[in-house]
Amino acid sequence: MASQNILLLPGDGIGPEVSAAAERIIEWFSANGSTKFETERDLVGGCAYDAHGEAISEAAVEKAFAADAILLGAVGGPKWDKVPYDKRPEAGLLRLRKDLDLFANLRPAICYPALAKASSLKQELIEGLDILILRELTGGTYFGEPKEIVTLENGEKRAVDTQVYTTGEIARIARMAFELARTRSGKVTSMEKHNVMRSGVLWKEVVTNVYETEGFGDVRLEHMLADAGGMQLVRNPKQFDVIVTDNLFGDLLSDVAAMLTGSLGMLPSASLGLPDAATGKRKSLYEPVHGSAPDIAGKGVANPIAMIASFGMCMRYSFGLVEEADMLDRAIAGALGSGARTGDIADGGNAMGTTEMTDAIIAELVKLG
Ligand code: NAD
Repeated sequence: MASQNILLLPGDGIGPEVSAAAERIIEWFSANGSTKFETERDLVGGCAYDAHGEAISEAAVEKAFAADAILLGAVGGPKWDKVPYDKRPEAGLLRLRKDLDLFANLRPAICYPALAKASSLKQELIEGLDILILRELTGGTYFGEPKEIVTLENGEKRAVDTQVYTTGEIARIARMAFELARTRSGKVTSMEKHNVMRSGVLWKEVVTNVYETEGFGDVRLEHMLADAGGMQLVRNPKQFDVIVTDNLFGDLLSDVAAMLTGSLGMLPSASLGLPDAATGKRKSLYEPVHGSAPDIAGKGVANPIAMIASFGMCMRYSFGLVEEADMLDRAIAGALGSGARTGDIADGGNAMGTTEMTDAIIAELVKLG
């Protein structure tokens, strides 16, 4: 039986609660599926700072390099508001993204039928929605130099962030977009601002070049200005399949797309690196989009679906277990369809806790299995 090694980094706040839920799902698939999952665990975020004085220890980083995939809960909380900037909880997560070169951030926006009424958009606009935002994660405005605030001679201050992309950085995310689209409905929409930004001109040129010269003729490519893309996402989101865009626009557009479908507690994500030349395996980190939710931490009421669906993405994108991943998606839809709701998605009335929601998903897996 194939075996895969997963590093669990539960983190802070509700992180350990939703990680425990995901671990039950991992155990279920390990016992009932085609692959055995071995799990190891370590600290990241505020809890790592408390234990080691750093947001992630060297030993944990080593484990991250050795693992077949990483599953992270959430980091941060008011307890660590005053720790030095380079040791703040988020520094552990950023270090992992950077050291493992996780340049591609995948954020699906899927509308579960049972929650279609809960969206802020009209039901018919989002019923059946299934789009994937692919955001470049290690370049662009958030990392470009210079990045500074300087005081001018007249006493005013001047702040600079730099939007910078190389051909190679754009080409690798474009390639991934076309490859992902092949496994879906076969359409890529590339979003940038070539009308006002030089980086947008290069982005459009490189995406087109990869498309035309690397044999992606079976996929459809369209270009859209990122501001128009934001408007189209709320006007007619079902026109999209895969949207590929840079770090800054991706940050904004993926939040818009994500919230079309309901609560933060529902949204998984994946961050992927390039495949290893020898083994073909990618470095990968899966995590819910939400944070550590200090307001509900320790109460046993967090929605575990984002974390559980993150494990689903792990099966799909790191281990190629597409049938198992589809089965888990159906189990989540089934649990919601049978009325299971945590407080964040409840329509008033009887909300259940983290454990009960996980029980409901496992019950659906048993039915499907
Ligand atoms: P948050 O996502 O933690 O919470 C926002 C709101 O959504 C809260 O009301 C929370 O109760 C609710 N919520 C979030 N996840 C939920 C779930 N699974 N079930 C039910 N309700 C849920 O964002 P925030 O409050 O802005 O940040 C709290 C802390 O988390 C901060 O320290 C922030 O820096 C950190 N954070 C970490 C990550 C990460 O680990 N990747 C991401 C975002 C924020």
